[in-house]
Amino acid sequence: MTSSAPTPLDVLRTTFGYESFRPHQAEIVDAALAGRDVLAVMPTSAGKSICYQVPALVLAARGTGLTLVVSPLISLMADQVGALRQAGVAASFLNSTLSASERASVLHGVASGALALLYVAPERLDDPAFLECVSARGVGLLAVDEAHCISQWGNDFRPSYQRIIDFVDRLPARPPGMALTATATRAGRRGIEGDLGLRDPLVVLASFDRPNLSFAVARPHGAAKKDRTLVAFCRQRAERSGIVYCSSRRAVEEVCELLRDEGLLATRYHAGLTPEERERNQDDFLYDRSRVMVATNAFGMGIDKSNVSYVVHYNLPLSLENYYQEAGRAGRDGTRAECLLLYSPGDVHTAEFLLSRSEPREDLTPEQRAVLAERDAERLRQMVFYATTTECLRAHILRYFGEEAPAYCGNCSNCLTDFEEVDATTDALKVVSCVARIAQRGRSAGAATVVDVLRGSRGEKVLRRGFDTLSTYGIMADVPARRVRAILDELVFRGVLARTAGDYPTIELTEASGAFLRREAPWDEPFMLKVARGEPRVARVAATPDKTRAATDVSELDELGRALYDELSDLRGELAREQGVPAYFIFSNATLVDMCAKRPHDVDGLLGVSGVGAKKAERYGDLFLARIAEAVGSRA
Ligand code: ZN
Repeated sequence: MTSSAPTPLDVLRTTFGYESFRPHQAEIVDAALAGRDVLAVMPTSAGKSICYQVPALVLAARGTGLTLVVSPLISLMADQVGALRQAGVAASFLNSTLSASERASVLHGVASGALALLYVAPERLDDPAFLECVSARGVGLLAVDEAHCISQWGNDFRPSYQRIIDFVDRLPARPPGMALTATATRAGRRGIEGDLGLRDPLVVLASFDRPNLSFAVARPHGAAKKDRTLVAFCRQRAERSGIVYCSSRRAVEEVCELLRDEGLLATRYHAGLTPEERERNQDDFLYDRSRVMVATNAFGMGIDKSNVSYVVHYNLPLSLENYYQEAGRAGRDGTRAECLLLYSPGDVHTAEFLLSRSEPREDLTPEQRAVLAERDAERLRQMVFYATTTECLRAHILRYFGEEAPAYCGNCSNCLTDFEEVDATTDALKVVSCVARIAQRGRSAGAATVVDVLRGSRGEKVLRRGFDTLSTYGIMADVPARRVRAILDELVFRGVLARTAGDYPTIELTEASGAFLRREAPWDEPFMLKVARGEPRVARVAATPDKTRAATDVSELDELGRALYDELSDLRGELAREQGVPAYFIFSNATLVDMCAKRPHDVDGLLGVSGVGAKKAERYGDLFLARIAEAVGSRA
């Protein structure tokens, strides 16, 4: 440790290899170093960890105490500590995966002052030996990562916030607290602030926009078509890393099987597997031995793999919070990445079923439980709205999180699709009267059957029930099934018709149906419908084979740059294998792209590459510079 402590910017440049702070980071770092509490709401990948890692190193250099990072996620700890050690930072973690002797060695590092940063699980805070050890050393900063998991309204986590408050009270001096979360709703924020006992915190709300992510919703009709869409999508990206999220273990099994049958390097992850298999499969994915991870939402918390270039949702997530957090695992290194939601209306019932089955919270009163149930139902409605909207998807997400957003982003499937507004009043009346005719016979039918009746299908379901004798049979024979279905869904959405819950949902009349048929107010306006002029552009984009490799931005390099990128990623892979760490621990894709663009010929030049700090330059510089010189020389 030097006598004159480095500034935060010195630390950022020499240790992490970045030229400047990203938005909000400097403000947060300064506040923490000035002893002020901070509540930072930042999306995944906005560089949350830098906010406490940089102060930790400054504090350590000043000799003013240890930075404790409380994290509920064991995988996050291991991942961050591994990456920090690559950058030459004295960091460690304490959790249940360590043996007694390993724990003793970590505590020794704390006591001797060798460690700058220590990650701990909330449970550790109850341990008197731990309290004694860190009290002796002094805590310079207490950061709580993924703070929404610790808050009392967090979905599945233990209410460990009380532990943190108690722990801080027992310390000889109260350190500044820093809570970081990617959950942005106002209620969530207030909850965290109160639960962690933050005092007049600096509140930072970073934009949730991730400009490098493109968003798309595809609505393939039927299970077979959905599978074909998925397979085509993954195949065109076979060389890249991607995650496919499914809502059930069974779906994970089936989808993984499907992708493997197509020759894709897919693996799987869900709570039904043995811990050994989960760990093996996760490693295969992290180390790029498997390209596609098919998983339930149990996968990904705390996984910091930076080169995931797409995330597909095979089923409807339960909320936009979940969706955005999961989709946000794509493009962490800032390179272009894709988020695709495959939506079919049947998914809504699966989602409702999953909600109804979630375990009742014994610690809550019936009133609190009712509030939560209503909140969950509303979140799901908002999710369905995202899946069916024809407006800009990015704008929809950002507005949901309370941000202003332009109506057009130019980088989502809706912005890239030509829509037209058509007057569908006549067709809408036909659909509602068909449902009314079926009801008059004391029968009911699902959406698909209603569409079949209107289009004059000779299908068994229609004929057996005598629906071919209805006056509305075949009156929409000339309208494509997709259009009829879109009108029906829109009528349900607007409350003119209703879909029943249960395994076999049927379409029913509502109190509004009669007024709608009689064109009475408020239903006397034309029934306007936004419809795609052609096939949505997503399908066309998906049909174009993509020749780029791991990251889209590689395509922006010239020919030599692209060849060099392949060379350097091979070298990175060799080094990663030798050390038994994921490739992105060595250098991220974005760093390699920058290296291939700048092609430095000495260590100084290498330090000018984004993401190359002093330690990594020292450790890997010669090897990478030699490869670059070779490639450049061979072309000269
Ligand atoms: Zn858009």
